[in-house]
Amino acid sequence: MTKTEHSTIVEQQLRTLLHNVPTAAQGYSQEGIVRFWNKSSELLYGYTAAEAIGKNVLDLIIPPELRESVELGMRQMLATGTVVPSEQMSLMRKDGSRVEVFSSHYLLRAPTGETELFGIDVDLTELKLSQERLQASDQLFRTLIEAIPDAIFLKDAEGRWQILNEAAKQLFQLGDFPWQGSTDMEMAELRPAFRSVYESCFVDDEKAWAAKKLMMFSENMRLQDGSLLEYEVLKSPIFTEEGARKALVVVAKDVTERKKSEAELRIAAIAFDSQQGMFVTDPDYVILRVNTAFTEITGYSAEEAIGRKPHDLLSSGMHEAGFFEEVERCLALTGTWQGEIWDRRKNGEIFPEWMALTAVRDAAGKLTHYVAAFTDVTERKAAEEQIQHLAFFDALTELPNRRLLMDRLKQAIAACARGQNYAALLFVDLDHFKFLNDTHGHFFGDQLLCEAALRLSACVSEGTTVARLGGDEFVVVLEDLGKSETEAASAAETLGEKIRISLKQRYLLTELIYHSGASVGVTLFDGDETSIDAPLKRADLAMYQAKAAGRNLLRFFDPQMQAIVSARSALESGLREAMAQNQLTLHYQAQTSIKTITGVEALLRWQHPGRGLVLPGEFIALAEETGLILAIGKWVLNSACMQLARWAQSPCTARLSISVNVSLKQFHQAHFVAEVLELLATSGANPHLLKLELTESVLVTHVDDVISKMTALKAHGVGFALDDFGTGYSSLSNLKRLPLDQLKIDQSFVRDILTDPNDAAIAKMIVALGDSLGLAVIAEGVETEAQREFLAGNGCLAYQGYLCSAPLSAEAFEDFLSAR
Ligand code: C2E
Ligand code: MG
Ligand code: MG
Repeated sequence: MTKTEHSTIVEQQLRTLLHNVPTAAQGYSQEGIVRFWNKSSELLYGYTAAEAIGKNVLDLIIPPELRESVELGMRQMLATGTVVPSEQMSLMRKDGSRVEVFSSHYLLRAPTGETELFGIDVDLTELKLSQERLQASDQLFRTLIEAIPDAIFLKDAEGRWQILNEAAKQLFQLGDFPWQGSTDMEMAELRPAFRSVYESCFVDDEKAWAAKKLMMFSENMRLQDGSLLEYEVLKSPIFTEEGARKALVVVAKDVTERKKSEAELRIAAIAFDSQQGMFVTDPDYVILRVNTAFTEITGYSAEEAIGRKPHDLLSSGMHEAGFFEEVERCLALTGTWQGEIWDRRKNGEIFPEWMALTAVRDAAGKLTHYVAAFTDVTERKAAEEQIQHLAFFDALTELPNRRLLMDRLKQAIAACARGQNYAALLFVDLDHFKFLNDTHGHFFGDQLLCEAALRLSACVSEGTTVARLGGDEFVVVLEDLGKSETEAASAAETLGEKIRISLKQRYLLTELIYHSGASVGVTLFDGDETSIDAPLKRADLAMYQAKAAGRNLLRFFDPQMQAIVSARSALESGLREAMAQNQLTLHYQAQTSIKTITGVEALLRWQHPGRGLVLPGEFIALAEETGLILAIGKWVLNSACMQLARWAQSPCTARLSISVNVSLKQFHQAHFVAEVLELLATSGANPHLLKLELTESVLVTHVDDVISKMTALKAHGVGFALDDFGTGYSSLSNLKRLPLDQLKIDQSFVRDILTDPNDAAIAKMIVALGDSLGLAVIAEGVETEAQREFLAGNGCLAYQGYLCSAPLSAEAFEDFLSAR
């Protein structure tokens, strides 16, 4: 075989090889005319070798935009003999689509001796695809880790930061800080905020590496502004197949807010279960939740309360109609309400509570809930009352103290001014109290004070102020004593005496029998007092006078008043004495009708051992006040009945009637009728000759009782006269109802009957009234013949008076009768 033959064979074999290599290879002339087109080129560009050979490569596969630079490259290669560097290009396929290739060009000497170009194109489609895929997955990965709100970062085996997501950058406030490849320690140097955390980071990293599995830690970082960031950290170590450290994936979740709200929830939960009762309602006031204190205070368990309205559950019914509407109005307006509410517990007990209501609104301002917090203020109120009590009441005796007394005194003076009334102030001081305290000790002293306080309170009617001034001094304020100074003084004296006597009774102090007494100073006051102290000072002075006069006494401040009161008390004791000593007697005054003496009026006299004959005007009123009138009245009735019985024995007196004055107090006694009947029976007097004289005031009150008593006595023959007629305020309609026999024209009309036309008119009118009611009429106090004639001329024939006879003792009257 020739050398040429051999090289032709080799060339042939090389061509075949080149034709079949999996890389696209082309040969072309310096002008670009394709000479060689292997199989891979056919596949890559879509042109068969037959189609390609003979065509210009620039027309075949080089896109128009590259043609110029490719042509230039080709020319440079040919001119310089150097190879242009391979480059990546996008070339054209037969179907017009593009294909990415890595294209290399070489110069080749053809067997013809001609220099040819040879190109090799590596198809990059696959490579590009996988590159794109990789990029896409990288993109996905980034998107993924950025989508996660937690901070994610990856450290390599040496602890250098390799990947961080945005959240991580934000967490460590990295901004565009060059973090890539730094270790924790380096970061700590560069970022002061990281200093507080890097050591624990390092420790936790090592723990995760050692554990070889995902671990959770809780780390925190103090920021420069002082706030503390708390986060939960997951650390997941990744190892190589050989078990060497590869990477550490760290996920950090910022839990600062969560921790804060957890803490807040815990605080809220604890606060909700506080000492205060609490409940939460929806906007319609339906209870959603209650706490333990709610149950403790109201008695309702959570199950019983939830779903109901507080008003239905707890209402005490103590509040006025508009109260809760007002609460709701205030809540709607201001969002809160506070105040005292009276509620009812489950056991029915009503109690006061201090309630704070708050309306809760959501972010949009819509009402969502009401929260109520309340405290049971029963005890506080009791304590307040206790304090109030301590402030105004004496702790030992529970009586009002000086402060309250001054207040009451002020009110009493004002009341006096309004009603133009008198009032009295009594200053009571226990005698020898200091002695008891000193000899027996305060224990007994206190007991005596308490007992004295009790006795004082028992002496007065409800509403009367009894106060303890301090020590053994007490004060009584007696109000509404009327417009008469004398009567007021007398009432004050009566009470003072009652107190003095009550305090004089012996005391039993534990086992000690003790005798004490009290000195009482009294003063009257009215609305003209210039200061509150004034009456107190006067009564105090009067009390000292009582002490000075020998203790266990009552003294008035005003000497004149003292004199009156002393006289009265002397009169009272004298009157008692008179009863006991039989110093009372009856005088009789004739009652005449047309010259005949038909009867007498019994008039009471007091045969006083020192003063001689005392007339009833001086003592009847006092007897009424003290109640002595009852005994006296009974004595008078009895004496009159006895006299009737005695006169019945003698023909010249047997037909005489006796008129007896009966006091109202006496008449109103329940057993009055029985008493009269009994006296009549025991004396044997003829009831038809007994006449009872009542005054006009019987017509004013208890008229039915008066009528029934009169009727009962009338049934036995007893007669009735209305005394002093015309002086009172008779109700004529009542007058008509009373079963009377006689009207007595009061002597005040008779006295001036001849000179005063008014008196004459009244007298005439009484006669006419008597006529029309069918009652007899008698005039009293007839002293002259002219008066008698005038009365007789006007139809009043009966009379009583000095003209006929003055009141006389029984013997004198009998003598007077027989003389006629
Ligand atoms: P009286 O029942 O209206 O009695 C009439 C009074 O007029 C008597 O006064 C009598 O002495 C007086 N008198 C009679 N004739 C004349 C006269 O011509 N001129 C004047 N100026 N006075 C005359 P006395 O005895 O002082 O009694 C006063 C009042 O005391 C009585 O008024 C009566 O209300 C009351 N009284 C008298 N005795 C008793 C009694 O036993 N019981 C009660 N409860 N009251 C009595
Ligand atoms: Mg009379
Ligand atoms: Mg009279």
